[in-house]
Amino acid sequence: MFQLPRGTRDFTPEEMEKRRYIKENMTSTFRSFGYEEIQTPTFETLELFTAKSGDLIVDEIYAFSDKGGRELALRPELTAPVIRFYVEKMQMEPKPLKLFYFGNCFRYDRPQKGRYREFWQSGCEILGTDTPEAYAELVAMAYTVLKNVGLNDIKLSIGNLTILHSIFTKLGLSKDDQKQLFPLIDKSQFEDILSLLLDCNIKPKDAEHFIYMLEKSDINEVKEFIKNDRSAMGELSNMETLLDLLKSSFNVKDFQIKLSIVRGLDYYKGLVFEIDAPILGAEKQLCGGGAYDLVKLFGGRDTPTAGFAIGFDRTLLALEIEKFSFSSSKADVYIIPVNEEAIKKSIEISQHLRKQGVLTDIDLLRRGASKSLKYANAKKVEKAIIVGPKELEKASVTLRDMETGDQEIVKIEDLIFRLKK
Ligand code: AMP
Repeated sequence: MFQLPRGTRDFTPEEMEKRRYIKENMTSTFRSFGYEEIQTPTFETLELFTAKSGDLIVDEIYAFSDKGGRELALRPELTAPVIRFYVEKMQMEPKPLKLFYFGNCFRYDRPQKGRYREFWQSGCEILGTDTPEAYAELVAMAYTVLKNVGLNDIKLSIGNLTILHSIFTKLGLSKDDQKQLFPLIDKSQFEDILSLLLDCNIKPKDAEHFIYMLEKSDINEVKEFIKNDRSAMGELSNMETLLDLLKSSFNVKDFQIKLSIVRGLDYYKGLVFEIDAPILGAEKQLCGGGAYDLVKLFGGRDTPTAGFAIGFDRTLLALEIEKFSFSSSKADVYIIPVNEEAIKKSIEISQHLRKQGVLTDIDLLRRGASKSLKYANAKKVEKAIIVGPKELEKASVTLRDMETGDQEIVKIEDLIFRLKK
């Protein structure tokens, strides 16, 4: 017997139905904001990901060389592939370009609930604008996508790396010190941050003030601290416009400012945001996003870019824990030929109904009426159509309501009308 590779999953028809619902629901939200779907390959050149994330990423991904000796990798995320696609083929498109995608990603992660080696992301990128309204729309869309699929309890946090860098500069921290601080800030390990700051010769009073600013994330407090940094003050003013639009125009009021969001990687700048589902516990992060600079790094003409990625599997997990009731799209109708003579006519009826948009299944085992009805019941089909010789003589069939057991003789030509009623 063969086993699944560690960290991968099979999905049953029931699970696929839930996943299809989420995908369709997310698609319609993305499209309602004017975003268009694209797709990129499952594997790319390894260099694409090392260029974006550094050589150490090789340890965390599925990298391999193919028979032609090419260094390739299964994609660990979709932003780099989308930007590669943009630089290769879409730079001339009218701006802004609003793209969304769904795709499987692969990471050599330690598998646990909500963390897999093959998982799915849905996400989007907006290219060619960095106005506060574009970014407010982006954040609002991430929030709306998750609300629209049916999640009740999600927490949106918004930060800004330009502002954080300005605070670091004012404190006099070197780039290396900042790099060491990032993971600690990301995990809000305030005691460790304090001791590292002291090791970096930051005065205790300044170190404590820094931690206070991180924890409180009060915009006015930060404004006062960085008021001499003109570029950071410009960013802060854009941020204020974004937050105001989010509240007053997009009606997304339920968020917190969190200066400790760092997202780790060098190419992020300005806006960063995350959405959590606290119900998921340790692996609670559903969505991460922000503004970033990758186009130039990938050889394109510098263009503002921002986007986010949502963990598709975690969205489903959170919905299940919240006891979301997924509607079922089982076959509407199960057709039962009572004997061999009725098979041809039954198939014709099934084809007729399918053309009219009815989800139609048919007995393919020749197992007769009573066993077929048991099967239809187990499959939770709404209606059965029993096709027998006596009724066929009058161009009719028996229509059975599987819930009540009520039966009636219906003319074949009236079937569609009866079913749609
Ligand atoms: P990232 O590209 O790391 O920002 O991830 C974006 C989102 O993808 C995260 O917020 C998670 O919801 C999801 N995600 C990341 N890694 C995994 C994984 N190994 N298994 C399942 N979901 C993941």
